[in-house]
Amino acid sequence: MSGETQEPKRPLVPSANLDPSDWGEFRALAHQMLDDMIGHIETIREGPVWRAPAAETRQRFARALPHEQRQLGDVLDDVRSHILPYATGNLHPLFMGWVHGAGTPVGMVAEMIAAGLNLNCGGRDHVGIEVEQQIVRWMSEALGYPTGASGLFLTGSSMANFLAVTIAKTEALGQQVRQAGLAQQQQLTAYTSSEAHGCIAQAMQLSGIGSANLRLVAVDASGRMRPEVLSAMIEADRAAGHLPFLVVGTAGTVNTGAIDPLESLAAIAARENLWLHVDGAIGALAVLSCELRGLFAGIERSASVALDFHKWGHVPYDAGFLLVRDSAAHRRTFAQPTAYLQRADRGLAAGETWPCDLGPDLSRGFRALKTWMTIETLGSERIGQAIAETCHVAAYLVERVEHHPRLELKAPVALNIVCFNIRGEDSAFIRTLVLDIQEAGIAAPSWTVINGDLVIRCAIVNHRTTRDDIDAFIGHIDRYLGDKRL
Ligand SMILES: *Cc1c(COP(=O)(O)O)cnc(C)c1O
Repeated sequence: MSGETQEPKRPLVPSANLDPSDWGEFRALAHQMLDDMIGHIETIREGPVWRAPAAETRQRFARALPHEQRQLGDVLDDVRSHILPYATGNLHPLFMGWVHGAGTPVGMVAEMIAAGLNLNCGGRDHVGIEVEQQIVRWMSEALGYPTGASGLFLTGSSMANFLAVTIAKTEALGQQVRQAGLAQQQQLTAYTSSEAHGCIAQAMQLSGIGSANLRLVAVDASGRMRPEVLSAMIEADRAAGHLPFLVVGTAGTVNTGAIDPLESLAAIAARENLWLHVDGAIGALAVLSCELRGLFAGIERSASVALDFHKWGHVPYDAGFLLVRDSAAHRRTFAQPTAYLQRADRGLAAGETWPCDLGPDLSRGFRALKTWMTIETLGSERIGQAIAETCHVAAYLVERVEHHPRLELKAPVALNIVCFNIRGEDSAFIRTLVLDIQEAGIAAPSWTVINGDLVIRCAIVNHRTTRDDIDAFIGHIDRYLGDKRL
């Protein structure tokens, strides 16, 4: 035996290592795909806004779990023929439905880098935490928050709003509510406007407080919460023995882009000792525009703000964000001692506060990178200008609607959301019109209900949308109204 080493038997199965066996081939295929994606974005105008996945494509994704490996080149061909043509459509300048960000090429590159590095940003001492903290400080600066505020990335504002409700609840009842739950507690009541996003009611449900304890405050003709109604509701609830704890103001409502009177809400919240949270999913990033910033006065007095970089910030999905003025309050709701997450004063476990102390996510991706690279590359001014420009384009659409014999504006336009109708046509007609336009691939408006009427709703979020696009859109509507052909 001595001196003789026996060759270990090598199994004949492929390596357990999941890296490519031929790095050169992999590199070539990956470079080609990157080129194709850049081309896809560069020529986005040339294709339809949207088309429904072909039957063959739907079938393609109804197959059984593949046991065998396949060549990457073949898989990428599937991506080219079955994925690329059937995207949501939100990159296209005539996508105006809901409120969708349009993405940027730099955001795409950032996603590639983030995936390659595959950081886990739940905690520990690495650069991902530093980059996220940079965004926390930038947003504090932009929104007028004090240094020392805390924040973190989440999937979206739905989650950020949910976290804010939870923090406000813990602050109102004390940290022991985390163990004891809500039983025996005085009834909490929260307030938001009747135009608030549905995720606020859902946050009340998920936090165990119940959406029946969310008061919907009436709005004025511009869709803004009426502060005097808010005050009266708080007073009535106190008289009934309840514990008002939270006001959620909206900076850019989903229906019409209305901005609640944040100064008044801040004054009421201070007087009544309520947590003021601002749902800034749509609007908060408009503070980057010097032209629009003034509309949000008072946001700097809030206790927390939810915002979405993936909407007006055009960071690729998903990139929601929560900013909390009082970092200690933020920690009190989520931090928990566990042996396996113990901190150290050096090494990889260093760092006092980790993102996992600030929300329910433990494993988390590097959303901060695509946000940092987008802001770093474009600069806050240019992003702010792009935001303001969508409002200008929306104002142009308003002009076209108001000068059109058949079209009628249905709601005041605060920012970039335009709701209009066709005179003399009913809801069924509007519905069909919107769906026909979407299916023709020429534009993608959506709809909503304003004062009981179904209306066409155009949210101009896309930095690629121009006045010419609006003219083309109105032209399509004209043709449709003429002979129902698109
Ligand atoms: C989009 C939106 C939300 C939800 O945000 P997500 O990022 O989609 O989770 C909440 N509030 C308002 C006003 C929104 O427009």
